[in-house]
Amino acid sequence: MSTRTHKITLIPGDGIGPEVSAAMVEIVEAAGAQTGCTFDWHSFNAGADAFARSGELIPKALFASIEQNRVAIKGPTATPIGGGFSSINVTLRKKYDLYASFRPVKSLPGIKTHYPGIDLIIFRENTEDLYSGLEITVFPGVVQAFKIITEKGSTRIAKAAFEFARKHGRKKIHAIHKANIMKLSDGLFLKCCQKVAAEYPEITYAEHIVDNTCMQLVMNPWQYDIILTENLYGDILSDLCSGLVGGLGLVPGANLGAECAIFEAVHGSAPDIAGQDKANPTALLQSAVLMLHHLGEAATAEKVQAALEKVYAEGKTLTRDVGGTSGTRAFADAVIAAL
Ligand code: NAD
Repeated sequence: MSTRTHKITLIPGDGIGPEVSAAMVEIVEAAGAQTGCTFDWHSFNAGADAFARSGELIPKALFASIEQNRVAIKGPTATPIGGGFSSINVTLRKKYDLYASFRPVKSLPGIKTHYPGIDLIIFRENTEDLYSGLEITVFPGVVQAFKIITEKGSTRIAKAAFEFARKHGRKKIHAIHKANIMKLSDGLFLKCCQKVAAEYPEITYAEHIVDNTCMQLVMNPWQYDIILTENLYGDILSDLCSGLVGGLGLVPGANLGAECAIFEAVHGSAPDIAGQDKANPTALLQSAVLMLHHLGEAATAEKVQAALEKVYAEGKTLTRDVGGTSGTRAFADAVIAAL
């Protein structure tokens, strides 16, 4: 068996990040050992911890590593609320123009939820909208945040969603918006979606207003196949959808651009359970599965996914967030044993 080596930038992150990252790395390496691929992980910290150590929020060596490897996987990084430094995620997504946030939300076997059989995908525009980071104090007591929506940004995320649908036989795309109120900005987003949709007549295109979408997702989530939306609505809907399949511990993600890709779970650093061996590494592990497909390692990806699903189907070694009693480590060991 010939051996392939992949160089990957790893950002373990804050809070539960190091625990779920360690579990992910161990499982991916164990699967790779069976399929003939190895991984050369280039690990860096970013955020408050990196700043304390090196005086840089995102070390230059981390940027250099991402530019060299073009593939990174990151744990969650904490962002101060109401002040302090800008989000590391937003900074990386903007710097590398990772315009497409791809988040598949799929039910895992054995997890009891109110919504069995969910299989939907969120395509979230990842670089614009209120995440422009442009806020000004107009005068004391009045602040303004700039919501940036461009034809270029809206068109390329719509194209990404429709191309994916065509390639993978998905049937329906809903553009989610609030163009009844934000007539110019969300109006432009919708016009771009409509224009792209016209090039894909085989895919059903529909539009829902975001508040109605929240209700529809709770009442009948099965009506959605692909959700195509702006940055802020995509962020909120991602957490809502993760709740449909069992919580934030499960849902993976990919930030995709023309030059590189950064894979990360939907969840944050979960400070309430950090360092207690309670975190569920599934979301980051499923992000690694997306990464393995991106690297052309389909066999390794499928091996990891099959082992993960086996552990869920058996239901004996699950973490607390999905009704089990096991810790992060025991769960990871069970997945490795199932490989
Ligand atoms: P969170 O996602 O960290 O946690 C929300 C809830 O989900 C908590 O109860 C937590 O314990 C639980 N949870 C999350 N992931 C879990 C897992 N893997 N296993 C088990 N339970 C899990 O959201 P938050 O508390 O709003 O944010 C905490 C920090 O994370 C903030 O600083 C925020 O800015 C940051 N954040 C980072 C990212 C990212 O790096 N991509 C994303 C979201 C939030």
